[in-house]
Amino acid sequence: MTATAVTRIGSLVTNDPGLGSGPLGLVEDATLVFEDERVVWAGPAAGAPDADTSYDAGGRAVVPGFVDSHSHLVFAGDRTEEFNARMSGRPYSAGGIRTTVEATRAASDEELSANLRRYVAEMRAQGTTTLETKSGYGLTPDQEARALRVAAEHADEVTYLGAHIVAPEYVDDPAGYVAQVTGPMLDACAPYARWIDVFCEEGAFDGDQARAILTAGQARGLKPRVHANQLSFGPGVRLAVELGAASADHCTHLTGSDVDALAEGETVATLLPGCEFSTRAVYPDARRLLDAGVTVALSTDCNPGSSFTSSMPFCVAVAVREMGMTPDEAVWSATAGGARALRREDVGRLAPGAYADLALLDAPSHVHLAYRPGVPLVRAVWRRGELIG
Ligand SMILES: [Zn+2]
Repeated sequence: MTATAVTRIGSLVTNDPGLGSGPLGLVEDATLVFEDERVVWAGPAAGAPDADTSYDAGGRAVVPGFVDSHSHLVFAGDRTEEFNARMSGRPYSAGGIRTTVEATRAASDEELSANLRRYVAEMRAQGTTTLETKSGYGLTPDQEARALRVAAEHADEVTYLGAHIVAPEYVDDPAGYVAQVTGPMLDACAPYARWIDVFCEEGAFDGDQARAILTAGQARGLKPRVHANQLSFGPGVRLAVELGAASADHCTHLTGSDVDALAEGETVATLLPGCEFSTRAVYPDARRLLDAGVTVALSTDCNPGSSFTSSMPFCVAVAVREMGMTPDEAVWSATAGGARALRREDVGRLAPGAYADLALLDAPSHVHLAYRPGVPLVRAVWRRGELIG
């Protein structure tokens, strides 16, 4: 085994309150040591064990690699025209998600894979070391299974989202589509995914349909997560909590009882500020959730329609500016929060036993992620102990 020490860390976010101050477990003048792919030591430089090799952080900050728990990266084409029309106040009647479904179905496996690799590389360069991605632009058993096979080659966590929208072939028969999603499509997809997701929203799937889809997935061993309460009030969040979903994602339109349910349950509220930014929509109220005791994660929702950013630092900055989060809370939510939303203990923190997934910032403090929006602060990234950029 080879031990590597990252030395002269000005400020180290461990996310382990036992190792440093506050919820971030912050250590100043720190050293981090990892052996092969796991952290073996984190703390003040004075107590650090010897290592075989070392990397001088030069007084800069180190944070856990970001955990991006919600993205849609298996797609082809882009939707520049739609975005441009939306931002120009022009009506846009083309098909939204359907546009991407058409392009994705027409793409070869190699094209989908190359596209996915490109966005994963973008994410990694910006400090993301764990990412989830979904199907949802195929909407037939073969196409959804193909998307999940491609996803599994490059993503850490894979989610079956056959219930993204009703497939174009079934617009007049939504019940028939739910039967597909819970029947032949689930059979084709279950071997490739850990999670099942549904877009529970007016115009997509209602509460009863979402329940049928998620429970069918659970019966096949998939774990639920839900696109919930994004565009309107609805049953998604309460359904997510009731079914023990790892995460309810979006959470933009919440009643008091939705917030109470999240506070009492085990379901993480994953907020996706890139989406509201890119659609000029009202942001979710992170402050209200945090004050109620809800666990909050931040994620990019990277997709070609509503949030085409792959940048977790951007999401941290927007969450602080627009959603009432403190810089400490936003950094926690983008790392440890994302890990909770994926029910992972081995990422999102820098403590002995966790993966050596870390980002070195060209800044003295993690606060700069919000203080210096839009600036490429990620100077180096290690994933599983390997320097990847
Ligand atoms: Zn999404």
